[in-house]
Amino acid sequence: MAERQLVVFDFDWSMADQDTDRWIFEVYAPDIRRRMEDLESSVQWTDLVAQSLREGHKIGMKREDIEHALKIIPYHPAMIRAVSNLKSRGKTTFLCLSNANSVFISTILKEKGLETLFEEVITNPAEWDASGLLKLRRRIDPEGPQHTCKVGCSPNMCKGEELDAFLARHGPAYERIVYVGDGSNDFCPVLHLRSHDIVCCRTFGGLPKRIARDGEKFGLKCQVKYWTGAWELEEIFDTL
Ligand SMILES: [Mg+2]
Ligand SMILES: [Zn+2]
Repeated sequence: MAERQLVVFDFDWSMADQDTDRWIFEVYAPDIRRRMEDLESSVQWTDLVAQSLREGHKIGMKREDIEHALKIIPYHPAMIRAVSNLKSRGKTTFLCLSNANSVFISTILKEKGLETLFEEVITNPAEWDASGLLKLRRRIDPEGPQHTCKVGCSPNMCKGEELDAFLARHGPAYERIVYVGDGSNDFCPVLHLRSHDIVCCRTFGGLPKRIARDGEKFGLKCQVKYWTGAWELEEIFDTL
């Protein structure tokens, strides 16, 4: 058993059983949700969510509406048990690496009583303005220097570079890193794991496909464990 380990969580479809960016519009503005689907291939995702939030604000989606949608997002009770039990055993640091945003994540974590779970939440910055508009920006400013990832991370953030920067800030090295993710944007950080580290890969989403297609080609070293429901992730966590 590792005396000092790091658990890294993606948020959408990993910690939460939904995608926050899409969910709030599915609850309150399906027309906007449809437009996101139509524009997804042509507009950078964080920019598209920011634009959709402005459209929602214009048609009367209020701060309370968005907060309510976040509080009722599908979230498995076994996920809360799994992380709480592992944290209470004392040897694990938790990091959140997400392409959602700071307000969505903190609102949900607070609702679930998990607001102190993560050492850091690395995501896109967002804040409410006085009129109740949620102002969202990319983590990496489009006007400044861009990340140099060659694996396919979205321009707003390279999760692999963010993971390396976190590890550099939090030495000495963790004996073991466990990464929980589902999406194609989780492939890059997973490539940074060592042979005794573990990726807990959700069986649906882009990550299992990317591992199957490109894992060998890109030199994936870590162990891969698969899970579908949070009760199965809880079983894995109980062995850590
Ligand atoms: Mg995800
Ligand atoms: Zn990357």
